Amino acid sequence: MPKKAKRKSWSEMIKLNCRAFQIFCKRYPQMVLSRLLCVIWTSLTPYVGIYLSALVIDELAGSRNAARLRFLVLLTLGSAALIALISALLNKWKETRGAGLWFKVEHIFSEKLLDMDYVNLDETETAELLSTIRQNQNGGGWGLYRVMANCEALCSAVLTLLGGISLTVSLFIRRVPQNAGAYTLLNKPAVIFFVIAVMLAITYLAPALSNKAGSYWARNADSHNLGNRLFSFFGWLGYHRELAADVRMYRQDRMCERYNRSKDGAFGSNGLFAHLSLGPIGLYSAASSAVSVIFTGAAYVFVCLKAWAGAFGLGAVTQYVASITKVSGGVSGLISALGDMRNNASFLEQVFAFLDIPNPMYQGSLTVEKRRDRSYQVEFRNVSFRYPGSDTYALRNVSMKFVIGRRLAVVGMNGSGKTTFIKLLCRLYDPTEGEILLNGIDIRKYNYAEYMNLFSVVFQDFKLFALKLGENVASKAEYDRHLAADCLEKAGFAENLAKLPRGLDTFLYKDYDKDGVNVSGGEAQKIAIARALYKDAPFIVLDEPTAALDPIAEAEIYSKFNDIVGDKTAVYISHRLSSCKFCDEIAVFHEGAVVQQGTHDELLADETGMYHQLWHAQAQYYTES
Ligand code: ADP
Repeated sequence: MPKKAKRKSWSEMIKLNCRAFQIFCKRYPQMVLSRLLCVIWTSLTPYVGIYLSALVIDELAGSRNAARLRFLVLLTLGSAALIALISALLNKWKETRGAGLWFKVEHIFSEKLLDMDYVNLDETETAELLSTIRQNQNGGGWGLYRVMANCEALCSAVLTLLGGISLTVSLFIRRVPQNAGAYTLLNKPAVIFFVIAVMLAITYLAPALSNKAGSYWARNADSHNLGNRLFSFFGWLGYHRELAADVRMYRQDRMCERYNRSKDGAFGSNGLFAHLSLGPIGLYSAASSAVSVIFTGAAYVFVCLKAWAGAFGLGAVTQYVASITKVSGGVSGLISALGDMRNNASFLEQVFAFLDIPNPMYQGSLTVEKRRDRSYQVEFRNVSFRYPGSDTYALRNVSMKFVIGRRLAVVGMNGSGKTTFIKLLCRLYDPTEGEILLNGIDIRKYNYAEYMNLFSVVFQDFKLFALKLGENVASKAEYDRHLAADCLEKAGFAENLAKLPRGLDTFLYKDYDKDGVNVSGGEAQKIAIARALYKDAPFIVLDEPTAALDPIAEAEIYSKFNDIVGDKTAVYISHRLSSCKFCDEIAVFHEGAVVQQGTHDELLADETGMYHQLWHAQAQYYTES
């Protein structure tokens, strides 16, 4: 069951909003400046019109001096034109600076994810937190996304209020003449205080009621998000290309339609929000609108009574009615902005919980010595590892030395820990127990980026970018074209490259270029191998490098393996034992432990060993020589 979000205190609300505002100021100062200047301008300039119009009316109703009237009218029109012009310019500036706020916010999250230790990405809490934040943002516009709008609303309300007050003060100070009979009551401080109190009460009530209505959305954000999530899946079912065949085969669209059209869903006519809208949300919103109208009525009565009694002229009536309405608008805006900021505070708290996730991996500072002879000795010493949140060991007491320049094969059944072993080797994770040493020193003590530079890995689930082929190989926009072509050739992609009309400049896939090429799984794997070669790191790791290749391409890679690897230390992972025979040494993994280690012949000779068993199990599929 979705939980109801708890409201934050005012001080927490201020802290959270200030922190969010500072993020925008630091990252996008021009956007903040343009938005705030626009607000200041649009909040204060209406008073120029109000003040000048009052002077014009007073002149018309009073001394009727034609020259002064002409001057006032021209001034009113001129200032209105100038204000409109500057407003348009400011708005243009704001639009160009503030464009894509949604992307800007997404960018903040994306940078955090890129900066995060790899291990954090595995934590379910991390994924859940980010998913909740994004659902709240996409569903209700909550979180960081709302901060700028709230700041603008707050700023606008305060300025409107101040401007309004400065033009309204004299309404209460200007006195009804003593000969006005009962109307002189309007001069009494008690009456004035009473009128102000009533107006403030009404002014407070309208936005408070409206905030109360809004709080039902915030408090039920989880149900709102769930409804949105269901709707985004069922409503867009037809867009899911990967489901298209199954949907047709089993007419799953009918099954989904039943969920999509359910009247009891969050947004259905019998759902939570329909009930809330018919009930409290509707009532509070209606009451808020009614109260606002009462305020305008009360303001008119008070101003007109004073004018009727002779406290001021006709021009002042328009000025006071307009400015008092502005004061009320300012107070309403202030209360509603503060209310919205408070409603948003618990969503911001989630955002900061995500942005503050610490990187738990120790960051060493030792530099990795640059060695031309690639003499880097890595050793696993009694290493055990559990994935975050898992209580079973994926690796157990693994001890192993990588002999420089040799080819090590890592074999074993699926789930035996081969990939985990490689991820620890590259320090994507740190061991739970034991240590990994580089030239005798714990790898945690080295500079992380420099240590990473020692490895070129082709992961099983590698990904290529829908960018140019050459950029994919070099992982850079500016690169050595000759070297890139050479690496592609070594990886067996030469023939394909020759056929590409734009060679290295051909886009992979068609996402960003209609002339892009779609590469098969096998071709993609060759490009990924070329990418690993281009990096030219002392260690090359190929995780199931031939899984997507056809038998001919696989044979081609094997025959070139020595060429490909050169003088690098190579680790070759496969569950196809026949493809590991050429390695100098083979480590057999089983249930997270290294159960055997030796050459192919040595391991096969041990008839009771795991290798022998695996070899013969696979021999029925492959006729080995
Ligand atoms: P292999 O590469 O030999 O197929 P893996 O190293 O991928 O095996 O997996 C070893 C064990 O660790 C398996 O039991 C697998 O389910 C588990 N495992 C792998 N990745 C994760 C992960 N990200 N979180 C939790 N468990 C994982």
